[in-house]
Amino acid sequence: MNAIKAPLAELDQALESILSEIQSPLASEWVDVLDADGRVLCADVRSEINVPAFDNSSMDGWAVRSQDLHEPGDALRISQRITAGDGLNRTLEPGEAARIFTGAPIPIGADAVIMQEVAKPLGEQRVSIETLPRPGQWIRRAGEDIQKNQVVLAKGHRLSPADLGLLASLGLSKVQVSRKPRVALFSTGNELVQPGSIAPSELPLGRIFNSNRYFLAALLTRAGATVTDLGLIPDRLDETCQAFGDARLSHDVILSSGGVSVGEEDHVKPAVEALGRLKLWALSMKPGKPFAYGQMPTSVAEAPTCHFMGLPGNPVSSFVTFLLLVRPFLLRLQGATQLESSFLSMRADFDWPKPDRRREFIRVRMNDQGGLEVFPNQSSGVLTSVSWAQGLVDVPSGQVIAKGDMVRFLPWSFI
Ligand code: AMP
Ligand code: MG
Repeated sequence: MNAIKAPLAELDQALESILSEIQSPLASEWVDVLDADGRVLCADVRSEINVPAFDNSSMDGWAVRSQDLHEPGDALRISQRITAGDGLNRTLEPGEAARIFTGAPIPIGADAVIMQEVAKPLGEQRVSIETLPRPGQWIRRAGEDIQKNQVVLAKGHRLSPADLGLLASLGLSKVQVSRKPRVALFSTGNELVQPGSIAPSELPLGRIFNSNRYFLAALLTRAGATVTDLGLIPDRLDETCQAFGDARLSHDVILSSGGVSVGEEDHVKPAVEALGRLKLWALSMKPGKPFAYGQMPTSVAEAPTCHFMGLPGNPVSSFVTFLLLVRPFLLRLQGATQLESSFLSMRADFDWPKPDRRREFIRVRMNDQGGLEVFPNQSSGVLTSVSWAQGLVDVPSGQVIAKGDMVRFLPWSFI
């Protein structure tokens, strides 16, 4: 019995509206740079030093004064040997060359490095230079990469593995980031069976294995959350209220899948309404129509609101609504400025002849010709389409696609 036909919300407005519910990012904490991958900076990071901190050689070879050399084959007196890690060294006088290695400091007076491949030592005392240098060649200048006091990474930036190396190059071992959102994860449905609880061949008629739990836990972790997996809720209002009522006390977000439509066995929305308030519940998108957002009070003074997000039960719908709504929400909760990867304009190597009234997100992957192929079965229960795909094509409502059209491609952005 689907009595109520509420108007459907547009995805972009729904996202904007749930993002606007975030009053301020989560509190900050200091973490080791080694543990900071995927974390969001809550303050600008400035460099206290120049990087590199001193002029150094980018080659194994010979440090020289370029004005001493006039023609190929000119010889210089070997005056010193400077290796990586050496400190103060002696000034290079006219007519001298210093044996030097990659990363070693350039001696005062030298203005170029000759690669060892184009120099010929003449015994221990002298070296002949076979190719004339350009002034400055093979020298990495102090501050060439980063200047002292420069903002290297801005507040709201989400740290990547490369950023961790960059922070370390500034001499930082700790960094200030937003704390991780605490997310309680539930699956709902009497039909669900946890993998491992029975042999796959013994699955009784009418039951299915719980798949959403696994990809949602992984997606949450990749979005920076700490996940409390609270298991399965049967299709009963009292048990749903009990489960959410307990979880809300100590979590920033409750995420559930299934039970969010308007069927008699769908108890998620009434439970949220009983414990707090429900803000939104249906989206004009395919897959993913039923989606709920709500709020409940916590018992934590520092984070008084527990946000509720209810995803559809169909696995593909759950996956897609997670990426388009939950992931940006979690990133914003951590104070991130960039919430999703950008859409790319790519060529469709497929036809999509049947338009839908709703905006569609179809599962596609790239082929060797630089175009996109579509998975043949786009049903919202077919998880193989997501596993096979490398991202989604955004098909506006009522639109067809013909081979060769340029389309908006959203690569999976959870890496
Ligand atoms: P619901 O939104 O609860 O009406 O569920 C819609 C469809 O998704 C039904 O076919 C459910 O059996 C299925 N479903 C719900 N939750 C899960 C889950 N955790 N894993 C796999 N399928 C699910
Ligand atoms: Mg259900």
